[in-house]
Amino acid sequence: MNISRDREPSDIQISSGKSTADTMYKVILYYNFKPIDDVKAFIADHRAACKELELKGRVYVSDEGINGTLAGKIGAIDQYKTFLQSKPGFSDTEYKEDLSDEIPFAKLIVKHRPESVSLNAGDDIEPGTEGVVYLSPAEWRSVMESGDDYVMIDVRNNYESKVGHFEGALLPDVKYFYDFPKWLDEANIDTDKKVLMYCTGGIRCEKFSVYMKKRGYKDVNQLHGGIINYGQAEGGAHFKGKCFVFDDRLVVPVNPNDEEPISECEISGVPCDTYINCANMECNRLFICSEEAAVEMQGCCCEECKSSEKRRPFNAENAYAPFRKWYHYFGPEFKDRQSASARSEA
Ligand SMILES: [Zn+2]
Repeated sequence: MNISRDREPSDIQISSGKSTADTMYKVILYYNFKPIDDVKAFIADHRAACKELELKGRVYVSDEGINGTLAGKIGAIDQYKTFLQSKPGFSDTEYKEDLSDEIPFAKLIVKHRPESVSLNAGDDIEPGTEGVVYLSPAEWRSVMESGDDYVMIDVRNNYESKVGHFEGALLPDVKYFYDFPKWLDEANIDTDKKVLMYCTGGIRCEKFSVYMKKRGYKDVNQLHGGIINYGQAEGGAHFKGKCFVFDDRLVVPVNPNDEEPISECEISGVPCDTYINCANMECNRLFICSEEAAVEMQGCCCEECKSSEKRRPFNAENAYAPFRKWYHYFGPEFKDRQSASARSEA
């Protein structure tokens, strides 16, 4: 696994821990499945608007719609929403919102993707069809508290559910979303059983719920707006640990009354839910690591990585600062090695 949180040095700031209106940024997570006719023009227009508003983050545009996460000044994010809402078909876009002391992205990426989120199942999967049911956070909670018989599936990757998940959920041991169909084949879930599923913001459930319906599961329910929305609406009741997010924050709290880590530092075993990438550029493995262990290991996941010549310099004063891109540390010969390993991981 090679989830990188590399970013440019100018973005690395030590949080003061104080939040004022001037220093707060808004982070939004959103998607909308709507056909886009001229994807190229849509992307160019989008990129220009985001640049002008000084937003950072990732926006993926496909023929089937938009999938994005952006951060910027609160007013700029509001202007972005007005911009997207003005596009034909996108006025009903829903946003999951959070405040942050920093912009948790190094840069802005607006690009084309073949699909908004890929299940790679070879099926034609149209979100919201086949009679899948959307549960509001309140409905979700009441099913959880009803004593009804159901099976709950965490539709995220193993490293995400490891640091936080709903009580009683099945936590599939999969590395990529497109591994879910294979997981389902082997999971032996009765097609008559009530199925509840959730993910971070809802987009993966949009695909997997319809996939399960097409596979004959009769009663398929997905959490509307995902964990992020649920945390805000229901205070995170019945959620253990924190929610993994794909930005520099890596995890965000869900339940303010229970922020105890449910995972451990992979080096020292102490309770911990902070991820870092291994300092060895050739490894770059994402692993859970306490600050003390990070200092001791110089940011590496194992002794072998610690002695690697491709180890990036570690800053003990700011142990959790993300590493920068490979070219800040190594010459062009590194890229050839990196692209070869990226191909084998794809
Ligand atoms: Zn390593």
